[in-house]
Amino acid sequence: MDIILLGPPGAGKGTQAKRLVAERDLVQLSTGDMLRAAIAAGTPVGLKAKAVMERGELVSDAIVSALIGEHLDKSNGKGAIFDGYPRTGHQAEALELLLADRGRKLDHVIELKVDEDALVERICGRFTCAQCGALYHDTAHPPQVEGVCDECGSTEFKRRPDDNEETVRKRMAEYRAKTAPILPVYESQGLVREVDGMGTVDEVAAAIDAILDA
Ligand code: ADP
Ligand code: ZN
Repeated sequence: MDIILLGPPGAGKGTQAKRLVAERDLVQLSTGDMLRAAIAAGTPVGLKAKAVMERGELVSDAIVSALIGEHLDKSNGKGAIFDGYPRTGHQAEALELLLADRGRKLDHVIELKVDEDALVERICGRFTCAQCGALYHDTAHPPQVEGVCDECGSTEFKRRPDDNEETVRKRMAEYRAKTAPILPVYESQGLVREVDGMGTVDEVAAAIDAILDA
């Protein structure tokens, strides 16, 4: 099963992708995570991407599609949850080819619908465990013991440099201008299912499960 999770920054794509991976035999292919790993490793791709991401703009289609191709080849034929990819019409076309080359095609495009003002609040409060990557939020989902990761006990956390209001607004504008226009193409193929992304994590999860298990 190959699934795209589509929605603006902060819609909950990463949270739902991680849950699906834990519960099903799927891999999460997040270009954002791949790019952050490239930056941390200081690769040529990372060097190119860093400033672009800090401005809230999109990294080039060629770079992200190459990353997806590499990771598809490393995923042992498991079904994929695409999270943060495709983000432009060119990327959508590239993905179709990458899948077709491997005898695969998309099963679902799940659109997470959310309210933009709520997104700024969600994104600006979020942070992750520096050790295990568990996701937290200052008000919506703080660790049970302040300063200690629920999952692994680490006391180190990190925030993304692009999770500030100005950059978030830019990322939203990029989403509206470049990513939302790919939805009609998937709609014409009958692939799109809408999910209300404003519910709790469990409510959103249940709605996604209902689609995947139908
Ligand atoms: P979010 O969905 O919260 O914006 P991501 O981790 O998906 O977070 O993306 C962070 C940044 O990484 C984006 O603002 C963009 O600069 C870059 N990026 C991630 N995926 C892509 C992509 N498919 N195409 C272009 N740029 C991307
Ligand atoms: Zn942890």
